[in-house]
Amino acid sequence: MSARHSTLIAEQLDTAEQLCQQRGKRLTPIRRKVLEILLRQKRSVKAYDLLEKIRSVQPGAAPPTVYRALDFLNEEGLVHRLDAVNAWSACLDAGGKPHDLLVICTQCGAVAELSDPGLSHQLANKVASAGFVLASQETELRALCGKCQRQAELDHPH
Ligand SMILES: [Zn+2]
Ligand SMILES: [Zn+2]
Repeated sequence: MSARHSTLIAEQLDTAEQLCQQRGKRLTPIRRKVLEILLRQKRSVKAYDLLEKIRSVQPGAAPPTVYRALDFLNEEGLVHRLDAVNAWSACLDAGGKPHDLLVICTQCGAVAELSDPGLSHQLANKVASAGFVLASQETELRALCGKCQRQAELDHPH
């Protein structure tokens, strides 16, 4: 891992610590560990892969403990639950403005956090006109990242 990435992780853990403190919540050691592991991945991770990674540093970690930690982090906006690919990713801008679009590479799990309030508003109106109400503030879009597009080109040249 690059020094820059390590610093970034440390900064994001600090931000998470501060946000929890401001809200009167506690970033317990297991919650912090789960967040740190997700931050290290730089992409989304399936729950069972995450469990394996946690067990390599904390052998006794039981699934319910890890899932509860994920739920907490999700409620605090520190991680994203990505239903589209059934995985989790660390929020890379937890201290910033809320974002409403999550683009996920279905191939490698890379995530782009975008924001377009105008578009989200339109989407919510469209959904409302059908008599529904959005269950989440975040819209997930399944996509293919630049790297995976190039790989697909190499694998299947025209
Ligand atoms: Zn985020
Ligand atoms: Zn990709």
